[in-house]
Amino acid sequence: MRARSLRFRLTAWYAAVLAAALALFAALLWFGLRQRLMHDLDQDLAGRADRFERYFTAESAHFSGPTLKDELQEFCQALPPESYLRLRSDRGFAFDYPDRPAPAAAPFRVISRDFTLHGEHYHLTAGEPLEMVLHTLDLARWLLLSLIPAVIAIASLGGAWLSRRALAPVDQIAAAAHAISIENLSERLPVPAAGGEIARLSRVLNQMLDRLEAAVRTLSQFVADASHELRTPLAVIRTTAELALRRAREPEVYRGALREIGAETERLTRLVEDLLVLARSDTGTVEMPLSPVDVRQVIQAVCGEMAGLAGLRGIRIDPIAGEDPLLISANAPALHRLLMLLVDNAVKYSLDGGQVWVRAARSGAHVVVAVEDSGVGIAAADLPHIFKRFYRADRARAGGGYGLGLSLAESIAKAHGAQIEVRSRVGEGSVFQVKFPARPGLAIGAPASHAGGACEPGALRRLENTG
Ligand code: ADP
Repeated sequence: MRARSLRFRLTAWYAAVLAAALALFAALLWFGLRQRLMHDLDQDLAGRADRFERYFTAESAHFSGPTLKDELQEFCQALPPESYLRLRSDRGFAFDYPDRPAPAAAPFRVISRDFTLHGEHYHLTAGEPLEMVLHTLDLARWLLLSLIPAVIAIASLGGAWLSRRALAPVDQIAAAAHAISIENLSERLPVPAAGGEIARLSRVLNQMLDRLEAAVRTLSQFVADASHELRTPLAVIRTTAELALRRAREPEVYRGALREIGAETERLTRLVEDLLVLARSDTGTVEMPLSPVDVRQVIQAVCGEMAGLAGLRGIRIDPIAGEDPLLISANAPALHRLLMLLVDNAVKYSLDGGQVWVRAARSGAHVVVAVEDSGVGIAAADLPHIFKRFYRADRARAGGGYGLGLSLAESIAKAHGAQIEVRSRVGEGSVFQVKFPARPGLAIGAPASHAGGACEPGALRRLENTG
């Protein structure tokens, strides 16, 4: 529907409601007036009949025959013109005023009454032409019928003008919204100064544009960063191949080059897979069916897998998870990946000969998993950023990944309704805590102290003591 048609419909409705109200008003007015005029006329006639009856009673005590009628004629002189009076009795008395019969065509208002005088029954009729009343009613009807359409016409014009004024900002907003696209997403819709509801709509739409703009900026930054990160391994692969092919070499050299290319391709594949998972989690299309999982088993598996690599650098990994099962609703492979990312970081950012603790415990309605290391720690300035994609606190440092690990960890945690918290001190180590909602009704009655116990928010105490 176009805005004009809304304007048209508003005006049409307004005119229709006004017409109905005015029609009702006119009908009530006209019938009220008619009622009132008839009532007055009836009162008049009744009074007249009363006076005539009293006069007749008084006069007939003194006069009779033609003299009485003359007296009655005299009484009637005072009556309004065109009105008539007529008296008949059962003994043949007849009086008419005026003498001539009333013109048959003219409509009359008539009242009649019976009375008895000295045993004689009389029938009195008083009439008055309706001409004045009808004339007044005609005038009223004419006035109403001609004035009401005029009033409706004027009011409709006013209504149309008003609704055009009120809806004009809608046109402006629509035009502005039409012009906004991905290229000029920073533009905003006009907010009419005295717009009320329309201003509110405009503001709400602008807030939506703010969010969209931020999301688009994040996405394009993500794409730019991803392309940038993809370029390095691709360049390594290309130059390795080019160098190897520049001249004839020993087979061992080719093998070395191919191994390097293979390793780089593997890194590239992992990067692309991570990017894919992140992109899917952005659009909410990750398939992550949840089922009851005992966190302790996943911890055991992850620590077991990492032990070899950590052992090479003299780093010990201690899983601490107590005796009782710690059940959560989770996607086992994703949970495995999440813990792997955290433990991998803990090992990666530990000094040789360091130590990593992986604890899990129940805390109220939650199961908390904490990965703690005695490594290099994270500077306070970096802490707010480490979950951002491609963010790496120390880019010069060798052995790090692409800065996607914690973003992935966070998006997996989110898919489990869990939150990741981090506390860290430079030179002392870091704790990453993941707080999962516990599966209701399961493993209840396993107090935190039974299950390793060191997972409460004070886990960093150990760090503080050692510092
Ligand atoms: P990366 O691939 O660089 O490890 P992550 O997203 O996993 O990317 O981590 C982002 C940054 O957070 C890392 O570059 C590192 O500086 C910091 N970081 C993560 N975990 C730890 C940790 N356990 N100890 C110290 N620094 C860490």
